[in-house]
Amino acid sequence: MMKPVNSEWISTPLDRAIAGASRNVAVALEKVLSGNDLDLEEGLTLATVEGNDLLALLKVADELRRETVGEQITYVVNRNLNFTNVCIVGCAFCGFSRGADSPDAYFHSTDTLIAKSLEAVERGATEVCIQGGLPKDLDGYYYVELLRAIKARLPELHVHAFSPMEITYGVEKTRLPLREYLAMLKDSGLGSIPGTAAEILDDDVRRSLSPNKLKVRQWMDVIRTAHSLGIPSTSTMMYGHTERPEDWVRHMLLLRDIQKETHGFTEFVPLGFIHSKTKLFQSGGARPGRSVHEDLIVHALARVLLHGHIRNIQVSWVKLGYEQSLACLQAGANDFGGTLMEESISKMAGATFGEYVSPGEFRAMIRAIGRIPAERSTTYGIRKVFEKPDAEERLPMEPMPVLTPQTANHAPASPTGY
Ligand code: SF4
Repeated sequence: MMKPVNSEWISTPLDRAIAGASRNVAVALEKVLSGNDLDLEEGLTLATVEGNDLLALLKVADELRRETVGEQITYVVNRNLNFTNVCIVGCAFCGFSRGADSPDAYFHSTDTLIAKSLEAVERGATEVCIQGGLPKDLDGYYYVELLRAIKARLPELHVHAFSPMEITYGVEKTRLPLREYLAMLKDSGLGSIPGTAAEILDDDVRRSLSPNKLKVRQWMDVIRTAHSLGIPSTSTMMYGHTERPEDWVRHMLLLRDIQKETHGFTEFVPLGFIHSKTKLFQSGGARPGRSVHEDLIVHALARVLLHGHIRNIQVSWVKLGYEQSLACLQAGANDFGGTLMEESISKMAGATFGEYVSPGEFRAMIRAIGRIPAERSTTYGIRKVFEKPDAEERLPMEPMPVLTPQTANHAPASPTGY
């Protein structure tokens, strides 16, 4: 049985927490509490806090969350569709991709993906999140055709799909201008895009993670153009590998600058690096993943630096586990992500294991930390608030889905696909 996390900052009054902090930290926290944006230097001060300074940061992040979104913790009922694991990009942190000739390479047919979408909707999903590898011979119009096929059967279903890397690949394959390509996706039923493939938005760090991946400028171009066409996106950051705290701050401030211009980000999702069995870690190129301390700082820092700009900070329960997710939800985060993973329906059909949290399990966990569960749409419209416990609510019996090297660090392993 899980215990709700009840750490010291949660019960410490706000003013006492700030009074116990060192001067620089207290000044920065007072500044954001008064509604002002923090700058790079103040962000750097907060990114390395410990002891009483950490306690104050977590407390203020939780207070800003309360001011911004109140006591609700939201989640979306969705399903991930990872249509292929064949990929030519070769990111050193990815355990998901396979060569085309690998015995466990797959490419689901469009009929299979439609059938999976229909199953998801029957079970209450309002969203499918579609991402995949980048096979060498992919048709540049594949993404468009897939959207049309799914929307023809399920016009109401929100399709959250295709990372900036995939969109860049489609542009390269079709030789269409980016704007035209994105407009075509939107006309074909694209509802929003995952802000994945961001990792750390710094070209030097990106070179060490994945030299073949799109550059910062390209990522920003896709996101800005999508937002300008009315296609919202999430935003993400992968931490716990080669980056330093100052990279977190610069990354978050870059996202904040984009948001000031476009207002197109629905949320920010920190993604902890799962190191084991990755090329990046095994070659000595990365530290062994994120620490619990880093999880708390990153989520709280995001709330503080993005305050007034990006309303929602999402935990990735797949990466954090339940207890650490609940801790982060008391340190600035307000969204639990999505319920259904790619394997969830097989699990419901009797398979022994899958990565899945039922809506009732989400609600029980949310209630265990004294907050109010609410189901949302992809774009944070509230579909239903669950003021009182109901018969479906029970805490998860499993401690936590085990991350396999196949799913740990590839973007589609997130519950919402972000
Ligand atoms: S993270 Fe995505 S783009 Fe990179 S190797 Fe894995 S599947 Fe390919």
